[in-house]
Amino acid sequence: MNTQELIALEEEYGAHNYHPLDVVIERAEGVWVYDVEGNKYLDCLAAYSAVNQGHCHPKILEVFQEQAKKVTLTSRAFRNDQLPLLYKQLHDMTGFDLSLPMNSGAEAVETALKAARKWGYTVKGIPQDKAEIICATDNFHGRTITIVSFSTEHDYRNGYGPMTPGFPIVKYGDIEDMKAKINENTAAIMLEPIQGEAGIIIPPDGYLKEVEKLCRENNILLIMDEIQSGLGRSGKLFAYEHEGIQPDAVIIGKALSAGFVPVSAVLAKKEVLGVFKPGEHGSTFGGNPLAAAVARASLQVIVDEKLVERSAELGTYFIDELRNIDSPHIKEVRGRGLWIGFELNTAARPYCEALMEEGILCKETHENVIRIAPPLVITKEEIDWALERIRKVVSQLAAAPAA
Ligand SMILES: *Cc1c(COP(=O)(O)O)cnc(C)c1O
Repeated sequence: MNTQELIALEEEYGAHNYHPLDVVIERAEGVWVYDVEGNKYLDCLAAYSAVNQGHCHPKILEVFQEQAKKVTLTSRAFRNDQLPLLYKQLHDMTGFDLSLPMNSGAEAVETALKAARKWGYTVKGIPQDKAEIICATDNFHGRTITIVSFSTEHDYRNGYGPMTPGFPIVKYGDIEDMKAKINENTAAIMLEPIQGEAGIIIPPDGYLKEVEKLCRENNILLIMDEIQSGLGRSGKLFAYEHEGIQPDAVIIGKALSAGFVPVSAVLAKKEVLGVFKPGEHGSTFGGNPLAAAVARASLQVIVDEKLVERSAELGTYFIDELRNIDSPHIKEVRGRGLWIGFELNTAARPYCEALMEEGILCKETHENVIRIAPPLVITKEEIDWALERIRKVVSQLAAAPAA
């Protein structure tokens, strides 16, 4: 079937909860994806940073195939031989005492929230049903009803009430607002160290350090949602490392499985994940042997191919070159590692469409920001290839803005 036929099927029989670019991808390899017409594109979204290791990484694919032949799902009613090895690898790589595996990112966020509330009651001594977890404006933590309860985005919440209480909102980056919202019932503060969906928003220098200090002074857990920022995307293993802090819990997902199967996890101090007793939380697929094997291979590729270092080095180069583009339509270029917010003072969607015509896939986030986040295996030559086309599109659209 061709592009138009496939799009027509999708429009007719699928729910319309997305507005994708009209490119129908058939296969992918590394940083490149191919559509059903045989056109080739450089992927500058990397599935929202889920494929930091590149598409269909051969080493991970091999592990995936081998494990799929052996056993894929045991449920946690029984043990399997892959999960313990993943636990150990996560501990050795990150230093956190314990981890708890789930599937989607949102499930891991929910897990962290449950752990924080239970910690609040059983360790901190917050009165029953009074625990508060502070979140920030313009956050993105997923799509469950509880998570959208503390979203500040109208479309994410509208029509889904009643909302889950217990999540005060502070202005992201504003430490005075944080001080004002903390009280004796605050169990945790959950933040993205850099806000991805909001448009690669980097908080003011020292903000996270100040937040950490408030947490220590007030016996509050600090939870970092690193589902998008983590595992090398920002040029560090975790983006919170840019500020030299040590959170009590970290949430990971996306690149943890390099695009093969959904795998997420909460990593935390013993005191935090230790609150769960058998039966108090779970997931049929969480910690399955296929997921565990894939996650182990995905983490190994990050180490073996020095993806964190690559992200830091090539990100600096990419950002510098983008900043050199002279156009009245560019408002700001910001980022950390290969995680770049290219902010325009006009709508970003026509730029994304023009870039697609040139063979680059990226997606606007909010109205005016193009997120540029290729797989971390991208080469300098491929970045130069992209830059040439980005310069061309910017100069064309600046000369004749799309209607
Ligand atoms: C993608 C994302 C999530 C949600 O992950 P899903 O797998 O889509 O549920 C949560 N937090 C952040 C920061 C994300 O980028």
